[in-house]
Order: sequence, then C-alpha cells, then structure tokens
Amino acid sequence: MFQLAKSSAFRSGAQRAFSRSFRAAQQQSAAAGGARKPASLARKIGKYTLYSVVGSVLAGTGYVSYKLYKEKNPSPQKPQSATFDNGSPRKTLVILGSGWGSVSLLKNLDTTLYNVVVVSPRNYFLFTPLLPSTPVGTIELKSIVEPVRSIARRAPGEVTYYEAEALDVDPVGKTVKVKSVSGSDADAVRDLKYDYLVVGVGAQPTTFGIPGVFENASFLKEIPDAQEIRVKVMNNIEKATTLPVSDPERKRLLNFVVVGGGPTGVEFAAELQDYIDQDLSKWMPELSKELHVTLVEALPNILNMFDKSLIKYAEDLFQETKINLRTNTMVKNVTPTVITAKCGDDIEDIPYGVLVWATGNAPREVSKSLMNRMECQNSRRGLLINEKLQLLGAEDSIWAIGDCTFYPGLFPTAQVAHQEGEYLASVLKKQYKIDQLKWHTLQNSNAAENDKLKSKVEKLSSQIKAFKYNHHGALAYIGSEKAIADLALGESMYHLAGSFTFLFWKSAYLNMCLSFRNRLLVALDWCKVSFFGRDSSV
Ligand code: FAD
Ligand code: NAD
Repeated sequence: MFQLAKSSAFRSGAQRAFSRSFRAAQQQSAAAGGARKPASLARKIGKYTLYSVVGSVLAGTGYVSYKLYKEKNPSPQKPQSATFDNGSPRKTLVILGSGWGSVSLLKNLDTTLYNVVVVSPRNYFLFTPLLPSTPVGTIELKSIVEPVRSIARRAPGEVTYYEAEALDVDPVGKTVKVKSVSGSDADAVRDLKYDYLVVGVGAQPTTFGIPGVFENASFLKEIPDAQEIRVKVMNNIEKATTLPVSDPERKRLLNFVVVGGGPTGVEFAAELQDYIDQDLSKWMPELSKELHVTLVEALPNILNMFDKSLIKYAEDLFQETKINLRTNTMVKNVTPTVITAKCGDDIEDIPYGVLVWATGNAPREVSKSLMNRMECQNSRRGLLINEKLQLLGAEDSIWAIGDCTFYPGLFPTAQVAHQEGEYLASVLKKQYKIDQLKWHTLQNSNAAENDKLKSKVEKLSSQIKAFKYNHHGALAYIGSEKAIADLALGESMYHLAGSFTFLFWKSAYLNMCLSFRNRLLVALDWCKVSFFGRDSSV
C-alpha cells in the first residue's frame, strides 16, 4: 500500500514537472514561431530538392539500365522461310553496305516481311561524324562502332549477314556477285539471287588522279585510316626528338599537312591542333612549339557549305590557334616528303611529315561496274536515281541510297543517307502489301474480285510518294572547344558559333549515336579526356 501510495505520489509529481516543462516549451515555441518559419521553408525546399535529385538519379539509372538491358537481350526473331503462312513466296531483299543508309533502313524495316540479306565487307556500322576525333584519342574507336550482328539481331525478323564485298550486280538476272573477305572463306566468290536490291555502298575518297596521293597520303574515311594517322603522328614526334633542333628534317617531320578544307579536313586539323595545345604542350613543351598544322584548300575559303559569317569565324579562329591556313592553294603532286601546290601563278613545294587527304568522294568500283551496265547511267558522280530512289534503268527492283548516288539537291551526308534509309523502310512495307495483293490476284479466278484487287494495288502504288529530304542544318567542330552550326528551323536558318555551339554539337552527336552503348561510351570518353587528357601512346 505504502509502496503504491509512494509511487503514485512520485508519478503525480513527475507528471506536474513534465507538464510544466511542456507548457514552457510550448510558450517558447509560440514566441519563436515567427522567426522559425523561414527555416522550415528552407528545410522544405531542401527536402524537395533532395527528393527530386534522388528521384531523377533513380529514374535516370532505371532508364539507362532498361535501355542497356534491352540492347543486350534482344527479343526472339521470326526465322526466314521460303513462303509466308498463306503460301505466298517471301521475297529476298539484299542490302549492300553497313553504313548510314543501309543501317538506317535495317533499323526501320519490318524484317519479317522479307528474307533480308546484308552484304558488307565491314562488319560494323561506323559513326563517321566523330571519326576526326579518333586519331588524336579524344574518342576511342570502339566507342563509335556498332557490330552489324547486334543491329541485325535486334530486328524483328531474322537477318542473314555476309562479310563480303559486292563485286558486280546483274540487274537483268537479278544477282549480285559477292566475294567473301573473312577468314578461311576469303576470296570465295558466289552469286546471290535477289528479288529486291538496295545499294548503299557509300563512296571512296577521291584523289582527282593527282600523282603520289594514294602512295603517300592517309585518308580519313574508315577505322584503319584513323589508326594509320595516329601511328604516323606519334612516330614522327618520336623520330623528331632524335634530331637536332636546327635539322630541317626535324622541321619537316613536325609539319602535319591536311589537304581539303571541307568539314573532314577542318575537323581533323582542329582536333590535331587541340591535341598539340592541350596535351603535348604539357608533356613535350619545347617540341610542341615546333609542331605545325597546315590546312591546304584550293578554293578561296574553307567550309564552303556554311554561311559566310561562320566561315569567317572559323578562319579567324584558325589564325588565333596558329593553324597555317593556305587557301587558293591547289595540290598538284605528292612525293613521300613534299607536296607541290599551285598558289595563284606560283608553284610551291611544301615539305610535310604526315599528310592527310580529305578532298571529297568518288564512286566505288561496284558502283562503276553497275553504271557501265546501263546506258542511262551516264554520270561520273554516282548512281543516278529517280525521286523515289529507284535506280534508273532498274526501277522495278533496285534502289540506291547515300553517298553512292547522285541526285541534284541531295548531298553526300549522313543526314541524307539516314533519311533515305527511313524512307525506303516505309516504301518496302508498302511494296510488301502490293506484292501480297498481286499474289492474291494470281490465285483468284473471279474477275470482279481481281478488278478490286488491282485498284487496291494502284491505290497503294500511288501512295508511294517521292522522297522528301528534310534539312536540319550542318555542324562542324573547329577546335578550342568551339563549333559552328547552320540550323534550319522551319523556313528560317540560324547561324551559331562558339562554346555554346560546341555544347550543342556534343549533345546533337550524342543524340545521333546509333546505340545507347555508343552514347555512354562517347560521353565517358569526353569525361576521361577532361580528367586525364589525351593518351600519347600508339
Ligand atoms: P557509308 O556510311 O560510307 O557506308 C558504306 C558501306 O558500304 C560501308 O559499310 C562499307 O563497308 C560498305 N561497302 C563498301 N564497298 C562495298 C561493296 N563493294 N559491297 C558491299 N558493301 C560495301 N555527314 C554528316 O551528315 N555529318 C557529319 O558530321 C559527317 N561527318 C563525317 C566525318 C567524316 C570523317 C566522314 C568521312 C564523313 C562524314 N560525313 C558526315 C559524311 C557521312 O559519313 C556520309 O555521307 C555517310 O557515311 C554516307 O552513308 P552511306 O551509307 O552512303 O555510306
Ligand atoms: P568536301 O568535298 O566537302 O571538301 C573537299 C575540299 O577539298 C573542297 O573544299 C575542295 O575545294 C578541296 N580540294 C579538292 N581538291 C583539292 C586539291 N587538289 N588541293 C587542295 N584542296 C582541294 O569533302 P569532305 O570534307 O571529305 O566531305 C565529304 C562529304 O562528307 C561532304 O558532303 C561533307 O558535307 C560531308 N561531311 C560533313 C561533315 C559535317 O557535317 N560536319 C563532316 C565531314 C564530312
């Protein structure tokens, strides 16, 4: 009892003390109420910012993981077969090439509608806009390629791939002669039969027949070209260090000449100068001062497809960064150590250590042999096509897209080839429907039904409209983390230049990368270079 009374007396005392301190705390808090409001608002803002940051990071990680998972784990494909379920024959579509045009077609095509066969000597797609960044190591080569096998495996219907080069096309017999370029099968030649053929073999670098170019210059078109340029640049730098500073041979070795002031030549010259200014100047400060980049252009200006204000901006920047710009200078001859150029009425010898040749495109051998087969193919600039991208002389079965073609107003750019591939995918879908209707007509003996089917075929055929190119503009990197852009928005053109345009250039190219894997690798390469600089090893 005593215990109980004692404890209840204690409890009521403690309760009184607690409620006293609680009331005091309440009064204090009421008094301080006005002053604490901003603190709680700040806390709220902080809290929601934190939530949104965490949310975005989680959503971003989820999105990236999902994309990568989808890329790594393709869905099952419908196998190829001679006929469809209704007994109609499944036509064979042969696609030549694995570049911008052909891959854009492959990515957009419903491959269950045809037995699709891809033939290309290169078993990957190359993201060419970032190729000029690779010889100096701003971007790793593996980051801008995507295997044909992965692209083909992600299509809904099975795609056959031959690592082979097309040698010739017979448009009458509907066959392509192909020569294997892989392993034990190398040199094996076979004829592939097609119902429809898409020629997307691109172009080769042109030399305009100038003597010595093939033997002595490097091009910048494919992965081995970029590797070759890197080896030459690094070797020359090392060789030069073994010679005395006064030796003219040392000066020659350290003069890197780029011929062609189109976007390829300009972007590469800019990357090379960046490498010298941003990296070599730290590791080899004295030697880096002796290195010279010379850009040679036959016309009065470089980058002639850009707006005049942007051309001036680029030329001024080249002057600032000490790129030796030689306009109105046309190369006439090349030896292993000297290029001979015509500047006005003068003939000048320019000694060089490394020569990169970027003077545009010429048709490939397979395109030339196809042209030779048809009288109407009388252009030297490429395969002639009509407004629906059908090859003149073989309109019923062959389409040609990208750099291998010539059509007024369509330039040899990735943008054009990509849009042509997309267009052709939609044409081939309609063509499949037309072929199905035609097959039903053949199976049908009812004249009235056949008339209906024929009018459907005509309607569908009339729905295949001419290809319409949608020009979005042009971008070029000009060095020192600056870029230029001619942007087409509706009817208006905008001309941008500078560091923000460089950020735009970067984001545009990231967005254009073929796969999510490429996008991530390119972004990581840029981060890597900004942290560690470019690697100088071969
Ligand atoms: P390609 O992409 O060249 O593909 C041709 C394909 O055909 C290749 O896979 C090749 O291996 C294959 N092939 C070759 N011979 C045969 C054969 N005999 N049989 C079968 N297959 C064959 N354009 C832009 O719009 N923006 C840019 O920023 C840009 N930057 C560029 C940078 C560089 C360094 C270069 C070289 C070009 C750049 N271009 C750019 C141009 C762009 O790359 C081309 O216009 C584009 O590649 C054309 O696509 P294509 O499919 O016709 O040819
Ligand atoms: P190009 O045809 O655009 O430019 C070649 C340049 O070389 C021309 O300016 C020409 O006058 C010059 N030239 C030719 N013979 C010469 C000689 N003997 N001596 C000196 N100069 C000479 O070639 P490219 O830069 O290789 O581009 C090819 C195609 O790829 C073009 O259609 C181009 O638009 C496209 N491309 C676009 C981009 C981009 O948009 N950023 C980048 C690279 C290539």
